[in-house]
Order: sequence, then C-alpha cells, then structure tokens
Amino acid sequence: MKTIDDLDVAGKRVFVRADLNVPLKGDTITDDGRIRAVAPTIAKLLERGAKVVVASHLGRPKGEPDPQFSLAPVAVRLGEILGTPVAFATDTVGDSAKATVAALGDGEVTLLENLRFNAGETSKDDAERGAFADQLAALADLYVGDGFGAVHRKHASVFDLPARLPHAAGLLIEKELGVLKRLTEDVARPYVVVLGGSKVSDKVGVIENLLGKADRILIGGGMMFTFLAAQGHSVGASLLQEDQIPVAQDYLARGKEAGVEFVIPVDTAVAGSFPDLKGGTPAEGFEVVGVEAIPDGKLGLDIGPETARLFAEKLADAATVFWNGPMGVFEHPQFADGTRAVAQALLDSKAFTVVGGGDSAAAVRILGFDENKFGHISTGGGASLEYLEGKTLPGIAALEG
Ligand code: ADP
Ligand code: MG
Repeated sequence: MKTIDDLDVAGKRVFVRADLNVPLKGDTITDDGRIRAVAPTIAKLLERGAKVVVASHLGRPKGEPDPQFSLAPVAVRLGEILGTPVAFATDTVGDSAKATVAALGDGEVTLLENLRFNAGETSKDDAERGAFADQLAALADLYVGDGFGAVHRKHASVFDLPARLPHAAGLLIEKELGVLKRLTEDVARPYVVVLGGSKVSDKVGVIENLLGKADRILIGGGMMFTFLAAQGHSVGASLLQEDQIPVAQDYLARGKEAGVEFVIPVDTAVAGSFPDLKGGTPAEGFEVVGVEAIPDGKLGLDIGPETARLFAEKLADAATVFWNGPMGVFEHPQFADGTRAVAQALLDSKAFTVVGGGDSAAAVRILGFDENKFGHISTGGGASLEYLEGKTLPGIAALEG
C-alpha cells in the first residue's frame, strides 16, 4: 500500500476521504476526536503545497440534502484545528464544489458537503456508485484514503473513487492498520477482549474469530443478556437477541474446549424503563440485582459493581486488551459506572490497550479519561471489528489495488 510520502502532491488537487462523522447536538460537536485524528494528514498535504479537497459522510441522510446532517459545523472546527480557514462547499459535486475547488491555491483546503446527500455514495448498484465516483474524480488529481471508520463500507468515495485516481493511504489509516496488526499477529498474552454496546448481532460475529486468538473474553453491554439467556437466566425486559442464544451457547461450549475463558456478568443495574438521557432525571425503579434475580419487566442497563470488580481482576494481568462497546448506557450517570470501571481497569493494567468504536471512544472522553493514556483509541468500531473478524475491508483493498 502506498503512503502519502509516495505521492508528489505539490500543486495537485488531492481528494482526502476522511471520516468526520462526529456526534452533534444541534450545531454543536460533542466529541471532535475524529476531526483531530485526520488533521495530521491534511496538515502534511497542505505543508507540501497540495490543494486539499476533504470529503466525508455524516450520519445517515437518505441520499438527498438534509440540513440536520450538514458538515458546515465540522468545516469550522476543522479550520480551528488546522489553524487555517477551510472553504466549505455547500454541495458534493455541484456548482459550489466545482467553484470552491477551482478557487483553491496551493496549500489551501476545502471541505465538501456530506457525501451521503448524493444517493450514488451508498448505492448497491455498481453503475450508480460508479457514476458518482466519476463526478468526484473530476474534482481531483490524486486520492488519499484516510476515513478509517468507513473502510468497511463499499461506498463510492471509499471503494470506487480510488480505482479512478492515483492513490495512497493517509497517516490515520497507516496508524490504525499498524495497531490492528498488533492484535492479530504475534499478540502479547494474556490477550483480553472486552465486548459491549448495543449492536449485538453486528458484534457476535467477531467472537467466532476471537475464539482462536483471545485468552479471555469479557461480555458486558446489551450483549450480556443474550449470554445470560444462553446460561438459562431470565433477563426481564433487557435487550435480548433471541436468535443468537444458540450461537452464544455454541461459543461458550467451544470456548471451554479451546481454553478461552468467557467472563459473563454476575450482577446488573436495572430500571423499570429506558432512562431519560436528555433530562438526566433518576431512572425509575433503579436497583442492582444478581443475574439470577432480574425482575420480570425490568431491563438491565449496566453491569453491576461485583461484575465491575470481576472484570478489573480479569484485566489486571493482561498484556493486550481490545475493548469495543460501552458496558452500559453510559449516557445516563446511573448507568456509567461499569464503563468507567472498565476504562479505569485498562489504565491500571500494563497492557497495550486499544479502544475501538465510535461510542466507546466518545465514552472514554466524555467520562473524563485522558485519551493519551490509552495505547490507541481507534476511530473505527465496525471497521476494527470486521478487520478482527478476518474480513476484507473494501476501502483497504481499494488502496492496495
Ligand atoms: P460502539 O459505537 O462503541 O461500537 P455501540 O454503537 O455498539 O458501540 O453501542 C453503544 C451504545 O450501547 C451506547 O449508546 C449505550 O447506551 C448502549 N448500551 C450499552 N449497554 C446497553 C444495555 N445494557 N442496553 C441498551 N443499550 C446499551
Ligand atoms: Mg456506535
């Protein structure tokens, strides 16, 4: 795979596919980690006299302009981080984009509007994606792929565009791939994996691959209830993926055979209903119960304190840790303790620690931890997991081609 050092960028228009999909509340960016993560690549290209055209998606608009998903606030923040103004194009391949790119001088940068405002970006139809990629290609001479959080997507700007321009990987993708290699080749042991979050079915697949690699797998978050159900517990109204119960049972059995230790919660913090995340009012019916005593009708929203202690113990001697998915609904203060405890356990261990996933990375920062104290905070959850599952990532394959 070529890197940006292999490209002669001076005076050239360089298209940088970034992942600037940051969490927003109205116009306010609540976590700018992904903007800061790609800034070094842009800065380096500018320093070398490139005309830089940055593009990204944000959220899931439906293939047409939708102001609530505008990248305009991101252009402002990117400019602050780079210390140079970022011209904002109010469309992707239209008059505004063409004019803004044409006006760029050497060492200047523009950000295009949300790529997903065009249906071609995410289309399953090769021709429709290709047509959009052709329009994007007309805006640039060279392509730099640095949107790590999107490389598992077969999207026009990620997969089809690099085939149309001389291309290279940006600094962020280089760094992310280097870290993932450390988790797959010659990993330092004990290797402990912590899984949580809410996208259960998305994440169950990674366990298959980890069975041959991890020494210990800790299960928290929404996924824990499928495993508890697999062990015969009733889980009340908690998040449960019924069709995955046999899969979880199979993993537990195969883990035993392969000498992989599954650590399943022993207690959980429950409430009578999903808590109000905006108002932060106390959750109704809050209590901590053993996993054998989850009341009917209540839902588990965090691991309990006994489990937090158990997880900390299981992390203490780790040499490598990969963590994806918050342990609970950390957005509400009553259900943040489990996530906080795991983050602290990572910092207390001597392990090389990797935190992957949009919400996991945001959780660590929002809970006030110093991100620099972790080995690596990945900008990509789905991308990291698919890499660890051994899948081919379209955006990486395209850069290698
Ligand atoms: P990531 O983005 O790090 O990959 P996910 O998107 O899978 O993580 O999950 C993050 C979300 O999971 C958080 O918004 C959190 O509130 C939610 N979550 C964690 N535990 C539970 C639970 N027990 N029940 C419901 N949602 C949960
Ligand atoms: Mg998420």
